[in-house]
Amino acid sequence: MAAQDIPNGFTGFANRKPGFEPASASVGRTPVGAYTTEGTPLSGVPSTYGSGAQGAFQYARDHARPDAGAANFDPDKLRLIPATDRRWAWTEVDLGVVRHNMTALKQHVGHGVRVMAVVKADGYGHGAVRCAKTALNSGAEYLGVATIDEAIELREALVNAPILVLSQPPMEAIPLLLAYKVMPSIYTPDFAIQYAEAADAYSIRAPYHLAVNTGMNRIGVRHDEVVEFMSQVSFHRALDLVGTFTHFATADAPETLDFHIQTKRFLEALQAMKVAGFDPGIIHAANSAATIRYPDVHFDMVRPGIALYGLHPCQETRTMIDLRPALSVHARISDTRLVPMSEGVSYGLNYRSPGSVRICTLPLGYADGMRRGLSGRTDVIMEGRRFRQVGNICMDQCMFEVDLRTYGTRRRIDPQIGDEVLIVGRQGDSIVTLDDMANMLGTIHYELSIGFAQRMPRLYV
Ligand SMILES: *Cc1c(COP(=O)(O)O)cnc(C)c1O
Repeated sequence: MAAQDIPNGFTGFANRKPGFEPASASVGRTPVGAYTTEGTPLSGVPSTYGSGAQGAFQYARDHARPDAGAANFDPDKLRLIPATDRRWAWTEVDLGVVRHNMTALKQHVGHGVRVMAVVKADGYGHGAVRCAKTALNSGAEYLGVATIDEAIELREALVNAPILVLSQPPMEAIPLLLAYKVMPSIYTPDFAIQYAEAADAYSIRAPYHLAVNTGMNRIGVRHDEVVEFMSQVSFHRALDLVGTFTHFATADAPETLDFHIQTKRFLEALQAMKVAGFDPGIIHAANSAATIRYPDVHFDMVRPGIALYGLHPCQETRTMIDLRPALSVHARISDTRLVPMSEGVSYGLNYRSPGSVRICTLPLGYADGMRRGLSGRTDVIMEGRRFRQVGNICMDQCMFEVDLRTYGTRRRIDPQIGDEVLIVGRQGDSIVTLDDMANMLGTIHYELSIGFAQRMPRLYV
């Protein structure tokens, strides 16, 4: 990339200050001629670009010298430079709002129904450990994760609550489950037996939840084969069936027929287990949508994920429960300029200045979850007002437009480097939501909240 930026015909350091001596001349690695287009090219580097490559080499050598490195700076002072001063883009998670959402969910399901807070994918990008602790402090009793490493992260942060991995991990990971007291979801007899035998070898129990496939066809024992499965594994004394669950494919959809078919199959499977003398343990099925919409399927425990973070799983739930989004995305203006009429902005120059606009740059891009598909289709908020994001969103930066013409009584805005901008969140009456972005992209907000966790520092407020 850097080499391509050097225009053809660039003749190296010919114009450099007198007294400069190329680094390689002293170490004798490369002939001095390599610094000009006429010289011997470096191997693999086109001669026209040779000077650029050598320039980078010189730069790296300077920084490798002990007197030029971090050794001269107090490491404690370096550490104290906050994440938001290292980089002017960050997310904020309001744990008070997570607490509010958890409390609302608890109230919604009422007494006698436990809540498993689903904190997979780093708490949907909100930070698994802090969100798990907040949820547990506000009424959740169980945690759900997707992988063993997510469970271990919670255990290492001293989270004590029961943790269920929501699928069946590889058999090779069984020692980790037992060592960290993390329960797997099980659906193959082979896994169940191996797990039981590993536990037995240490004279401990092998607790698990049975996953039942009632129609989503993702994981689980088929609803009409549950008794057969139990008969195959139940001989093992270490195995401990702590819970039985299924997962809905369409709890968030307006059409409910498929949902009811799944519910019916689950009830039949549970009934068959009871008849055959198997205790299903804690019965659970409901994700956020089902938790909010269908009290009939609360059973012993519900498993909300998205709702905990304040995002509605579907339109229907908006009037049914008061959820508030916990995540907001922030940045500060890193550069700003007047762009004359008809000049372009960003890769492709697709956006053209209409004149009388100030273009402001923000240091976040698609590597930070600011999806490129949003280019020119989302707004940012500054001083309570919305401004159009313009030009293609780059990997690490994006731009927005401030119209400098005055309309009526509107106060003119004069953006400066360092001014704070809201990319997702609410300021006064202006609001940009993950829902808006998801609709624009034809995806769901789950994907966006996870995306914004990729690289930006996260602040808890
Ligand atoms: C992710 C997940 C949930 C939570 O789903 P939401 O729609 O975020 O509430 C519940 N159960 C299982 C099995 C899951 O995989």
